[in-house]
Amino acid sequence: MAKVPDTPENMKKCICGGCPSHDQCMKDKMEGFFCAKGKSSCDLAKNGCLCGACPLASDYRLDKMYYCEIGAAE
Ligand code: SF4
Ligand code: SF4
Repeated sequence: MAKVPDTPENMKKCICGGCPSHDQCMKDKMEGFFCAKGKSSCDLAKNGCLCGACPLASDYRLDKMYYCEIGAAE
């Protein structure tokens, strides 16, 4: 597992916006790209996580999920 560089190119690849756990609070705060930006300030209801299907997960060999809860990948 590697640190995910917080670049605009990587941010565009993040699929958090289509995730069932990406709630209105996160949308209102324009939160996402949690594996690089760190955890969400919203109360998370776990309704599934799309990180496993994200291109960045394979690019950086991310082996966890719910980065909105656990914070940035190290
Ligand atoms: S691995 Fe998850 S948090 Fe990271 S960019 Fe992809 S969808 Fe977003
Ligand atoms: S980190 Fe996972 S659970 Fe959280 S919003 Fe992104 S895809 Fe959904």
